[in-house]
Amino acid sequence: MESNPIRMCELLVGLPAVTVLGVVSRENEPLRVHVERADAVAGCPVCGVIAHVKDRRRVELVDLPSFGRPTRLVWHKRRFRCPEPTCPHGSWTERDPLIAPRRLCLSDRAGRWITEQVGRWGRSVSEVAKELGCDWHTVNDALLAYGETLIDDEGRFGVVEALGLDEVLFVREGEYRRQCYSTQIVDVERGQLLDVVPGRSGAAPTAWLQSQGEGWLANVRYATLDLSGPYRSVFNKTVPKATQVADPFHVVKLANLKLDECRRRVQNELEGHRGRKHDPLYRARLLLTKADERLSENGREKLMGLLNAGDPKGEVFATWRAKELVRGLYDHDDAAMALSFVQRLGNDLQDPDLPEEARSLGRSLLRWKHQIAAWHEAHVTNAPTEAANNLIKRVKRVAFGFRSFRNYRIRALLYAGKPNWSLLSTITPR
Ligand SMILES: [Zn+2]
Repeated sequence: MESNPIRMCELLVGLPAVTVLGVVSRENEPLRVHVERADAVAGCPVCGVIAHVKDRRRVELVDLPSFGRPTRLVWHKRRFRCPEPTCPHGSWTERDPLIAPRRLCLSDRAGRWITEQVGRWGRSVSEVAKELGCDWHTVNDALLAYGETLIDDEGRFGVVEALGLDEVLFVREGEYRRQCYSTQIVDVERGQLLDVVPGRSGAAPTAWLQSQGEGWLANVRYATLDLSGPYRSVFNKTVPKATQVADPFHVVKLANLKLDECRRRVQNELEGHRGRKHDPLYRARLLLTKADERLSENGREKLMGLLNAGDPKGEVFATWRAKELVRGLYDHDDAAMALSFVQRLGNDLQDPDLPEEARSLGRSLLRWKHQIAAWHEAHVTNAPTEAANNLIKRVKRVAFGFRSFRNYRIRALLYAGKPNWSLLSTITPR
């Protein structure tokens, strides 16, 4: 057991090669630990002559809380002067990356701790700032400085065989609450977020993929997408040999969307107004989008009753049937059958007696038939992309929406991009 008071204090402060000068404790203020570096002698970096200490400057750094209390490290930084009259070096201030990184006003260990708390465990910047007793920017600046280095690690991802693109809404900003989209690039096999680029057009993902190089792109065997034209062009351009796979989630979502459009239109034509609580079709809206086999006997009976009352021409029923057939696509995994099934369903839905919404669904099925059927062969889906999306939604909730794309990208990648956390203790912050 250590009982020497100075040594005890040094052990508690826990920094290598510093001398603790004193501790200041004032009510309602952080605890202040005054330190200086232990090696008192420094040589001039130009001529090597032992330097004179010119003066000292106090730098206050946010540090980890001590025993639950916010703490500051007050570093008495020495300023040196070279005594050699002919030496051009003049004066300089000592530095020590073990104590504090350049340009940031916190200790090095606080910077690394923040990166893990916010980046890995998904805590909010303001929550961590409160724990440290400092402002939001101090925490966020540290997160960017350490986090970006961790994200840019060359070994974070290697060969990718199944690539997915997916759009995500990331912020509504300004007085018009403008919707801003970003595109996430995902390894759908490993469920790893590779990167996030601004917008949902093809330009940014194309540039990102091309920057990975020909060799990397040649390994991509499957390319998954929602039913979006821009992403299809990205894949045509960058990975023309990869099999494109439409994600089942988005195919079923489109069928449900068409069903909903149909319900609203019929509702409006019949009642002359938008859905109200007692209208049969409005009451049917949740039962309609539920999978048929998940409806109880009662639920099914209720649905048919509501359709009888609110859907005299059977239009909603027809679109509901179409949706169920689309879902049926994924009940089996025979690739050859899948293509003919999609083709037939697409054609059948072109029947002029069917409502416009069902015909529109049929046209989409025909336009995407190869990508839809390819799922049965590839068995890769955007599901990991959706998982990454959910993680990002969590990060967004925590941050109450992101103002800056840079913040958003770093947070999302630290959380869902599988950085190598074992590197955190050794990286040099930006
Ligand atoms: Zn000198």
